[in-house]
Amino acid sequence: MCIFCKIIAGEIPCSKIYEDESSLAFLDIKPVNLGHVLIIPKKHYQDLEEIPAEELASLIKVVKKIGELIKTKLRAEAYNLSENNGPLAGQIIPHLHFHIVPRYLNDHIELWPSREFEQCDFEEVKNKLLS
Ligand code: AMP
Ligand code: ZN
Repeated sequence: MCIFCKIIAGEIPCSKIYEDESSLAFLDIKPVNLGHVLIIPKKHYQDLEEIPAEELASLIKVVKKIGELIKTKLRAEAYNLSENNGPLAGQIIPHLHFHIVPRYLNDHIELWPSREFEQCDFEEVKNKLLS
């Protein structure tokens, strides 16, 4: 059983923020910022490819609800929403989860750096995606 399934089963404690029949939200144990929340489906799906679209639709509604909580209750100015989809993308826990990180003025959290590419690279990648 994966660590998040153990949390769902109550075998590992968590700081629960929200729960319904299909989803659970709890505080990240190593937060990027205070109030960093993870939102997970109760069924074990590894990633976005595995979860059926209807179940993802329910989960994203919970994400939206937690985002609203972060802004109203924690008075965050904004928040970052992320999902590391696959180990190479930084997914450590193999159970689909969305991260919501509250953002405040001057909180010094760095976003991804952007990189320079040639126009032909854009054309090539666009053509691959359209083919
Ligand atoms: P990811 O790299 O996207 O797989 O993120 C996994 C996240 O799970 C990390 O931010 C961890 O800090 C968090 N995490 C790992 N174990 C626990 C736990 N027992 N309770 C809460 N968060 C956890
Ligand atoms: Zn799991």
